[in-house]
Amino acid sequence: MPLWFKKKHRTLLRTGGHSDIGLVRSENQDAYGCFPEGASDAPPERLFIVADGMGGHTGGRQASRLAVATIPAVFFAHPGLPPEDRLRRAFLDANARVYGQSRALDERTRPGTTCTALALSGGLLYTAHVGDSRAYRIREGRIDLLTTDHTLVEQLRRDGLLTPEEAQRHPRRNVLNRALGVHETIDVDVDGIGPPASDDRYLLCTDGLATLSEDELLEIVSSLPPQEACERLTALANERGGRDNATAVVVHFL
Ligand code: CA
Repeated sequence: MPLWFKKKHRTLLRTGGHSDIGLVRSENQDAYGCFPEGASDAPPERLFIVADGMGGHTGGRQASRLAVATIPAVFFAHPGLPPEDRLRRAFLDANARVYGQSRALDERTRPGTTCTALALSGGLLYTAHVGDSRAYRIREGRIDLLTTDHTLVEQLRRDGLLTPEEAQRHPRRNVLNRALGVHETIDVDVDGIGPPASDDRYLLCTDGLATLSEDELLEIVSSLPPQEACERLTALANERGGRDNATAVVVHFL
């Protein structure tokens, strides 16, 4: 039985979150949130989100913030429905809202955002995901990527047209083939990933942390409390040049 049930619906977890503008960009277009906000007594459901906006004239910044505001509002508004359905609906509503703000613009200049969410409901975890932000699980000394990057380069790698090494160095590795808010409709990856185990840690991050290896993510998230881990991850991204905004959310199940 999941830990969560044993404790009369108390979710025994600690969370941290941190976002850094980096050293080059003039604006932080990333956004994140842990919901419900400011929960002192552990609620039965939790939702964690990171989003990485793109598009000039503050459009990317607005897109990521709108997604992070819309998704929990929709998710928590329909508690009777299955969590997978609520996550999908929340992402579709966020897509419609971001798209609705910019539909007059040309597709190439329309702002959009990645969005990666981790939800806890009924003692089980779910991911929902669009774009190239990532969710990782750290369990028993290993780190596993739970999401698939929606990038052109990842598609080419999956099709066997690029090796993993070529994909990592590819000049177009940042080109997304799915982002929230760019088109009227969108495919959302929603997956049930089972119950959390005791001492599991989950990391949600934007691609500003892509200069860190998985071994480094594993070491930092495993060895520090969640908030310190998030701050250390973004600081290390800055030590590597800080060319992008960097954001991390860590959830540690006790
Ligand atoms: Ca980014």
